[in-house]
Amino acid sequence: MEGGCMCGAVRYRLRSAPYDAGWCHCRTCQLNSGSPAMAFATVPIGDFVFTLGEHLVGSVASSDFGHRRFCTRCGTPFLMQVDHQPETVDFSIATLDTPDAVVPGFHIFYASRIGWAEAGDALPRHDRFRPDTRGL
Ligand SMILES: [Zn+2]
Ligand SMILES: [Zn+2]
Repeated sequence: MEGGCMCGAVRYRLRSAPYDAGWCHCRTCQLNSGSPAMAFATVPIGDFVFTLGEHLVGSVASSDFGHRRFCTRCGTPFLMQVDHQPETVDFSIATLDTPDAVVPGFHIFYASRIGWAEAGDALPRHDRFRPDTRGL
């Protein structure tokens, strides 16, 4: 699978099929995206490869245990990495060329949701992290 940013300066490729797809309603995702929630999926860190414009990819500390990478030209958020899961990255599903192909299976940080952004599905909803989150 391939993906990229709004302006087209940055492109990436996944070397393996993503897993653990889900919605995150935390405040950081709301501010990072300007939207009520973000949908992420996971791949091993070596399987997310920038194929164009990697020098334009910025990094920002998004918490004291993680950072996020984004296109410095247009702002599209690509991925986040957290210290307790150094072997994987969580990328934003919406940046895939075929986002329909990766379907979220749960909601996390649902307690932080914006009131008018109630999920319209029957997926499991966790107030914060999932109980089985690796590294916690
Ligand atoms: Zn861009
Ligand atoms: Zn989040």
